[in-house]
Amino acid sequence: MSKKTIRDINLRGRKVLVRCDFNVPLNEERQITDDTRIVGAIPTIKFLTEEGARVIICSHLGRPGGEKKPEYSLNVVANRLSELLGAEVGFVDDCVGPSVVEAVENISEGGVSLLENVRFYSEETENDSDFANNLASIADVYVNDAFGTAHRAHASTSGVTSHVEDSVMGFLLEKELKYLEGELKSPESPFVVILGGKKVSDKIGVIKALIDKADTILIGGAMQYAFRKAQGYSIGESYVVDDDIPIAKELLNEASSKEVNLLLPADSLEADDFSNEANTNNIQPYDEGGSIREGWEGLDIGQKAIEEFSNVISSAKTILWNGPMGVFEIDAFSKGTKMLAEAIATSNALSIIGGGDSVTAVKKFGYADDVTFISTGGGASLELLEGKTLPGVDSLDDI
Ligand code: AMP
Repeated sequence: MSKKTIRDINLRGRKVLVRCDFNVPLNEERQITDDTRIVGAIPTIKFLTEEGARVIICSHLGRPGGEKKPEYSLNVVANRLSELLGAEVGFVDDCVGPSVVEAVENISEGGVSLLENVRFYSEETENDSDFANNLASIADVYVNDAFGTAHRAHASTSGVTSHVEDSVMGFLLEKELKYLEGELKSPESPFVVILGGKKVSDKIGVIKALIDKADTILIGGAMQYAFRKAQGYSIGESYVVDDDIPIAKELLNEASSKEVNLLLPADSLEADDFSNEANTNNIQPYDEGGSIREGWEGLDIGQKAIEEFSNVISSAKTILWNGPMGVFEIDAFSKGTKMLAEAIATSNALSIIGGGDSVTAVKKFGYADDVTFISTGGGASLELLEGKTLPGVDSLDDI
């Protein structure tokens, strides 16, 4: 069912509560080290102000555990937001209660205020109905633009919708759904899905949901070792979750019965230590008798795997990538992830980076501007790719 957006309703003069995801990383001086999430919310906020709405923004920051802890205050975000908007942003030191009521009364048409962290109240994550009602009491309209928390049924992401006149989505949420849901409904073939990271169990839902649509699934990262172990190879001290091995076996069978090309890295880079100073060795391809030695662990995909994977990527028309190929945070083991990011960036395919560590990797290696879409959500993007309904979307008004 399609959901209404801010384009579909009257906004002039109305009090609009916007749920953003301003859960930004801060350093020890409480300076924002990455403002991507604030930048991502600007189109929605600008549209609302230009339409003459009275804008009240709420968000969470970190996990204060239902207590008012200054180190989790959103006050630092108000300053950055004000700079990016080129307009004053009032900061209200609570998210419910008299100070909020008073501040909202003073917002003019086109004005913006940011409320304090909603997670200063445990009722937020408990989706408490009275708390949701309190949050909503100052607004006529609710806008959800917080994709990163849309998979959570919290008071400010879901409960609040029962207590306002209109509940609609903002542009960021709309864009996430357009790519992660819309574009992947019937992707142009060849559709290549690249999965990495640590646990097969984290990604099994995505593999199962996409196995009928994908032409090729490339598996890298530590999760490959569950598959290699399932096939009977020696993997030394490589990271593997034992419970993942039967899952990997089942997926290999499913892929072969459905004639999906599930490609594992042909070779690995083995290391004798989890550090930049480790001794490393590119093993022989597994199908030529290669394996990872006892006392060594596979921390990146090998050279042959990089070439094979890059070839598959270069002929793709649609690419979805979630999870690094190796321990890309350590230079010595970053080549596989970097080369794949480059292959994706230089391909002509529609490329979607599905959240989490692959987003960090694409940015780290300087390819963020060369891909079609980068998701702002980790858990939310995985759940959407699994075909699940997100509570923060489901509770909005249907068209
Ligand atoms: P995930 O959160 O499941 O997407 O996993 C991401 C993490 O997997 C990153 O921090 C990588 O460093 C790590 N990773 C990727 N490949 C390996 C590997 N071969 N061994 C251990 N960790 C890995």
